[in-house]
Amino acid sequence: PNDIAGLIEADRAHVWHHLSQHKPYETIDPRIMIEGRGMRLWDATGKEYLDAVSGGVWTVNVGYGRESIANAVRDQLVKLNYFAGSAGSEPGARFAQKLIEKMPGLTRVYYSNSGSEANEKVFKMVRQLSAQVHGGKKSKILYRERDYHGTTLGVLAACGQPQRASHYGPFPEGFVEVPHCLEYRNQYPDAPHYGIAAANAIEEVILREGPDTIGLLCLEPVTAGGGVIAPPEGYWPRVQEICAKYDILLHIDEVVCGLGRTGTWFGYQQYGVKPDFVTMAKGLASGYAAISCTVTTEAVFEMFKNDPSDPLNYFRDISTFGGCLAGPAAALENMRIIEDEDLLGNTTRMGERLRANLLALQEKHAAIGDVRGVGLFQGAELVADRTTKEPLAEAKVQAVVAHCMKNGVIIGATNRSLPGLNNTLCLSPALIATADDIDAITNAIDAALTEVMG
Ligand code: PMP
Repeated sequence: PNDIAGLIEADRAHVWHHLSQHKPYETIDPRIMIEGRGMRLWDATGKEYLDAVSGGVWTVNVGYGRESIANAVRDQLVKLNYFAGSAGSEPGARFAQKLIEKMPGLTRVYYSNSGSEANEKVFKMVRQLSAQVHGGKKSKILYRERDYHGTTLGVLAACGQPQRASHYGPFPEGFVEVPHCLEYRNQYPDAPHYGIAAANAIEEVILREGPDTIGLLCLEPVTAGGGVIAPPEGYWPRVQEICAKYDILLHIDEVVCGLGRTGTWFGYQQYGVKPDFVTMAKGLASGYAAISCTVTTEAVFEMFKNDPSDPLNYFRDISTFGGCLAGPAAALENMRIIEDEDLLGNTTRMGERLRANLLALQEKHAAIGDVRGVGLFQGAELVADRTTKEPLAEAKVQAVVAHCMKNGVIIGATNRSLPGLNNTLCLSPALIATADDIDAITNAIDAALTEVMG
């Protein structure tokens, strides 16, 4: 752009950036991103970056500048851009069919526009089933410490990161927290098996609350912003057992891990879990259109038909832009790319490389306390002291991120300004990453840690 100063001026004067703090003008991040291609981005000053976080928040899974997605969206918009309400659509039907092929056991796809919205649909469905099928029982929703499910007041009630929810209450009632499953910060040091102990902690909450009060357990397959927490071994099978035992529906929030980020279409497929609800958003169309899906089983769908004499016996919910056909058109092409380019295979291979590189860095840098993750979603928790595991101060974590940025590599860190949750470096490059890209990312972290930690 030829008027960079004007652009920056307009941005500073009028745009309230997400997650921004009110800082002195001079210290505000001066970047305005202008262009992207593959794994690379250019800002308004022409500076080039290698993007190790897929658009900041793990979204652009197939990379920037995909003309085939843009063309698919264009063709759909010219043919029919929008029709909402109870009617179906061509890309909506086609994409739902393709998606369901990848999700054995699930049959129904409900469209909306954001991860928060997709999750809130599940919570509403559970509340309606409680009223309509369970006589007011089974209305409570369990969520896990450190997990995040979105930003609206409804889903913030299920937020395992208390600092994010503080100041926004009162929230809807009946949301209950279960403990996290981060083995590095083991809450059950005397238990013989961490994964089983962490799952059993969920059962304890269920028994305390009363199993017939609980309708849903909502979990991230791999906790993302709360610390890049891959579930410990043995955890998921036990969680599944507990849900079955107490007749609790299992909702897996795949907003980050779907589609493909862990090397399978969905994170839960790494663990053989059988969910009743799956939600997805970010990687569903890789940021080429706003779309989210709430996917469920025929059994859940059928439950809404339990009482045909009740005129309100259907899911009374609508999403205006769930009717925008750019979404499923983009999602269809996004899925074709992942299949045709074997991006699931690439994610597994490159994820292993990223993990191996990070483990090698851990040998060299005492600040890396733990390396964890699945596929191309890896984290490195930074600590001030390996023995006490005291989290590294946020200023230092951010200095590592800033050093990489200065050297043209965009990495992430979990949850800025949330004490105790802000010290894990977060790597989630696009699923097209090459070995050279992966090495460039970890080399940048190596240099940054050397500089910042001395
Ligand atoms: N669930 C998870 C696991 C997320 O990480 C996010 C977003 N970071 C959301 C839900 C909310 O998605 P959205 O911002 O699209 O509402």
